[in-house]
Amino acid sequence: MRRRMGRVFVSRSLPGDALARLGAAHDLVVGPGSEDEGGPERAGVRGEAFARAAAELDAIVAVLTDRVDSALLARAPRLRVVANVAVGVDNVDLGACRARGVVVTNTPGVLTEATADLAFGLLLAAARRIAEGDRIVRGRGGFPPWTPTFLLGKRVHGATLGIVGLGRIGQAVARRARGFGMHVLYAQRAPLPAHVERALGASCVPLDDLFARADFVSLHCPLTDETRHLVNADRLARMRPGAVLVNVARGGCVDEVALAAALVRGPIGAAGLDVYEHEPRVDPALLALDNVVLAPHIGSAERPTREAMAGLAADNVLAVLAGKPPLTPVG
Ligand code: NAP
Repeated sequence: MRRRMGRVFVSRSLPGDALARLGAAHDLVVGPGSEDEGGPERAGVRGEAFARAAAELDAIVAVLTDRVDSALLARAPRLRVVANVAVGVDNVDLGACRARGVVVTNTPGVLTEATADLAFGLLLAAARRIAEGDRIVRGRGGFPPWTPTFLLGKRVHGATLGIVGLGRIGQAVARRARGFGMHVLYAQRAPLPAHVERALGASCVPLDDLFARADFVSLHCPLTDETRHLVNADRLARMRPGAVLVNVARGGCVDEVALAAALVRGPIGAAGLDVYEHEPRVDPALLALDNVVLAPHIGSAERPTREAMAGLAADNVLAVLAGKPPLTPVG
């Protein structure tokens, strides 16, 4: 019998042909498709399937709920690569992987446009009270007769959008904003070249100025020690009256207790969130508010994007286990 090249743990069942391509070259151990299928105790790198396979694993295809840390690495002494099916790698201890010589890869680029679409969807939904209106229609089986003052929202076109992190997704959001005639400000550590700023019609400003000047603030930075609670009580207090916060980056970038308080007391008027500090749990204080639109971490959730993410993660594993350089290494 042909000797298999390696043993790969795939934390969750993946869409597209990624599993078939990996399985054609390697032995696979695949986790459940969803928490519903296996229960949380069997899921991902916390699960029984992983525990049984860990000592023999050459590769892990991880998702963002899998915490890859030194304790996990200690259980997998043969591990050569962790391929995260996400662009964010805040679930992976990069230092511990580097120290062990384990390659880490992510899925940049293939999810950019889908995530920007969702950010813009949340921006529009929060500004124009779409989810709130939907609740009213469902709750009453209709809605009150048209009046000039019912469900007045916030104007989007022509407003100022502040983007924190004008990277791949931030730039895709800026392109959408131009279509809405918005003025775009951005803040990040290193300003972009002037020709990129010109093409996007975006001006670089200090972070605190962005919060003070923007009608909409959209977060597109990674979660790092520097960006944890970047949106805190102090910055929320600087925002314009009625301003809208959009977060499709990572929940930890926002102090959620401070956000819930600001959504009640102002000055901000609304928020659109796809990610949460303690997800999948959502702070009950947010659940109680009508002026926040809550999406269940679906930034990249459309089929071609998820298939491309899974495919890229598989290609990274196939490359590393074949002794080739990874396509999209991190760090
Ligand atoms: P990217 O191209 O690397 O862009 C990240 C941007 O953040 C860069 O412009 C970077 O500029 C900026 N940044 C980094 N540290 C910063 C700091 N301390 N303060 C301000 N800006 C900072 O990444 P991307 O592909 O656009 O993805 C961005 C993030 O989106 C990911 O890390 C992930 O967490 C999140 N995401 C979420 C979903 C979802 O499903 N909701 C989907 C995809 C991605 P400087 O380095 O110059 O500061």
